[in-house]
Amino acid sequence: MSYRTIIGLEVHAQLLTRTKLFCGCSTTFGQPPNSATCPVCIGMPGTLPVMNRRAFELGLKAALALNCTIAAFTKWDRKNYYYPDLPKNYQISQYDLPFSSDGWLEIPISEGTSKRIGIIRAHLEEDAGKMLHDEKGGGQDSLVDLNRAGTPLLEIVSRPDLRSPEEARAYLEEIRLLLRELEVSDCEMQEGSLRCDANVNIHVPRPDGSFTATPLIEIKNLNSIRGVERALKYEADRQFHELQEKLGQEWQHGPPGKFADDVVLSVLRKQGEQLLPVFKATAGWDDKRGVTDVQRRKEEAADYRYFPEPDLVPVLVSPSQLEQVRAGLGELPAAQKTRLQTDHGLSSYDADVLVRQGRAFVAYFEQAARVSGDAKEACNWAVNDLLQTLNEKKLTVGRPSQAVPDGLGRPSYEQTSPLSAVHLGELIREVKSIGLNKQRAREVFTAMFENGLSAKETIARLGFTVVADEGQLLEIVRRAIAANPKAVADFKKGKTKAADAIKGAVMRETKGLAKTEAVQRLLLQELEK
Ligand code: ZN
Ligand code: MN
Repeated sequence: MSYRTIIGLEVHAQLLTRTKLFCGCSTTFGQPPNSATCPVCIGMPGTLPVMNRRAFELGLKAALALNCTIAAFTKWDRKNYYYPDLPKNYQISQYDLPFSSDGWLEIPISEGTSKRIGIIRAHLEEDAGKMLHDEKGGGQDSLVDLNRAGTPLLEIVSRPDLRSPEEARAYLEEIRLLLRELEVSDCEMQEGSLRCDANVNIHVPRPDGSFTATPLIEIKNLNSIRGVERALKYEADRQFHELQEKLGQEWQHGPPGKFADDVVLSVLRKQGEQLLPVFKATAGWDDKRGVTDVQRRKEEAADYRYFPEPDLVPVLVSPSQLEQVRAGLGELPAAQKTRLQTDHGLSSYDADVLVRQGRAFVAYFEQAARVSGDAKEACNWAVNDLLQTLNEKKLTVGRPSQAVPDGLGRPSYEQTSPLSAVHLGELIREVKSIGLNKQRAREVFTAMFENGLSAKETIARLGFTVVADEGQLLEIVRRAIAANPKAVADFKKGKTKAADAIKGAVMRETKGLAKTEAVQRLLLQELEK
């Protein structure tokens, strides 16, 4: 028996600003505990928040790229709850008037096909601090670090349009790619700059054609994409088994949603698909044990006693400001993928691999493709030899723009490849023109990566002088023919493939340093005599 998995994701991305959302404290990761704090972000009475303009702009950028409608008028709200990492006892967030809503994101679901995932809303809010439990061992101590308190977050809430853990992974990868490309967030899940809560339940078909829905479980604070996928797989399966165990065959009868003993969610309808009313609980994910543990009934919005933040003015967004942000978006990954296929004749797969490496890598590839005049070859070199070498040496091809916020302590981004795109393009052209085989070409590539010289110079230095003297080459061809009587006989019987064996012998003798085109021509000329 099969069931349908219904997944919606809430993503929190930390914005790449230098300072916090409502004060001037630094957002740099890894500073001594509680050093990046001030009276505003530790919630001293009498302090007043001031909105970070840059954070709002980054939010606009992301929301536009997610095809959201931007509100001309938006305001801030207090979300009230008590926790030691939240010294104000409320979080400044956005409730009924988020700055953006009703967007969508296209995600790849299989080779060449994609699916549109709805975005309910994207809003801005401040982060809380961080609790450290049992640092000294013995279960006696809990510490709080407020460096993160007040850091700007973009919360992106998807519609429950995801239908499998694999789709959830694809969605997160797409969000991460988009936010990184836009330089909105660096989306480092280990550092907590991208976090995810996953809502999941299942619909089990009943004999009458309707469905029974299980309670909705919100799995909190997942901190790796792999973790999200594993947690969702586990939880959907757990819900299915719980449903069977608790109710036996009984669940197949009675009204839909019977299993839900505390109906709190309203019915969502979308494109003919009915999402049933269910009750909701939260769960944690234990990555080591690979299990979820269901904790408590979920708070409802009413429990947070949201009310408008009296210390901040509403934000007005003008059409001209919106146009300015839109103009600065550049080419987004989905559009880029389509263009690479039409402009360079690449397959959807190749285009996807390139786009996933980011804008700088795509720009690098396109330049190599132009210089070499062979996009397919440029793509092969880029996604195989180049990527592998860059990964081994922990290098990148560089950053596409100068708009890198400084002071973020990530110098690795500045480490760039010593092999320029122009040089890679030349290498491809030279290899083709002199007919170097792949093995020799790889040696040239490796040397160029070390010396930073052009392909021509490197080939000369390596002493890869291709046998250009046709008389000398003819001698070698004749010797190879004499040494391979079986292949010659096969060729004469019409098996043209047999010539490859003789060609191989010529290439071996010349150590791969003969022009493939000349060898081919001389060989045919001799064989047809
Ligand atoms: Zn502060
Ligand atoms: Mn939130």
